[in-house]
Amino acid sequence: MWNFVSPRIVFGEGALDALDELQGKRALVVTDVNMVRIGLVDKVRAHLKKAGIEVNVFDQVEPDPSVQTVLQGAEMARHVQPDWIVGLGGGSPMDTAKAIWVLYERPDIEPAAIGPVGELGLRKKARLITIPTTSGTGAEVTWGIVLTDTTEKRKMGLGHPENIADIAIVDPEMAIGMPPRLTADTGLDALVHAVEGYTCSWHTDLTDGLCLHATRLVFKYLPRAVSNDRDTEARERMHNAATCAGLGFGNAMASMAHAMGHSLGGAFHVPHGRAVALFLPYTIEFFSRQAPERFAELAASAGFANTGGEQAAREFAHHIRDLCRQIGNPTSVSEAGIGRKDYEGQLDKLVDDALNDTQMVTAVRAPSREETRKLFLYAYEGRSVDF
Ligand SMILES: [Zn+2]
Repeated sequence: MWNFVSPRIVFGEGALDALDELQGKRALVVTDVNMVRIGLVDKVRAHLKKAGIEVNVFDQVEPDPSVQTVLQGAEMARHVQPDWIVGLGGGSPMDTAKAIWVLYERPDIEPAAIGPVGELGLRKKARLITIPTTSGTGAEVTWGIVLTDTTEKRKMGLGHPENIADIAIVDPEMAIGMPPRLTADTGLDALVHAVEGYTCSWHTDLTDGLCLHATRLVFKYLPRAVSNDRDTEARERMHNAATCAGLGFGNAMASMAHAMGHSLGGAFHVPHGRAVALFLPYTIEFFSRQAPERFAELAASAGFANTGGEQAAREFAHHIRDLCRQIGNPTSVSEAGIGRKDYEGQLDKLVDDALNDTQMVTAVRAPSREETRKLFLYAYEGRSVDF
């Protein structure tokens, strides 16, 4: 038995107007200080006020949000007693909003214990709205929550299908001001979601189409969105691509590039999309023998000649590296600015964390410890995988 979960999705130009018709008394907007600074919180506040809703703001979400931040936000929720929680921003504020909501409804649960088993019994006090301001994480439509254990410097994959948003508002205008680097990093995250959602062992007929289409959209529109921030068509199509990919992988799983990317991000604070995209081509080369046709189908969907077989999968890995280069992203760990000594000093931990990551469970096949270690080393130097 399989489930496909999704919020109601309001998308396209003017989607934010959906807030005007909400029924409720109080909202808690979970966001970061940057969203306040660039005026997006005020924009959301104006719409909620039209609906007669009192607005409270928790703006303390940091990149790679910690358990402590979630506890602080939950404390504020208990004080404010909102009937709507609004996650506004990139993946970090949206994931934090999900966790705060769970803790507000279920004060008996610890953040690190938010797992997919059993019933949570949410929606007794509040419901959740997600509003992405980047185009990539897909967190607006997924139930996964990534939090960082700051003591262990480790990312934790948490979440329960019940903590999926009730409404996702995918309005391209909210992403219009993204700087090129953020556009590139987050857009690549959407590509990795699409590729890993399509090739992980939990992919289904209901997720495949979304992943294929998202792959096509990213190859076509991401370079345009990065090079010209006024290209509104590219912005809108990337915003949609991120949501398609989110639905695709969110109802399947991700795979080894996410496991390695989480591991690197936990140790060295490399932005999520940059980290997972960097590892993706190495993992494709690594899996090219086991699942060549799945990768070849993705390549064909993105408009590349389908030569078939293992070679097609390896060519697809090169096309992804080309895309990264075209938009100024690193294709190796050294290019990402991490010193060899620091990296080698952390190598055992990187391997352990990747092997323990929840996304590794659905990889095309389970890699050995030695293979994982080798992949981290090849990815450092930018060598194509030949083992
Ligand atoms: Zn991701």
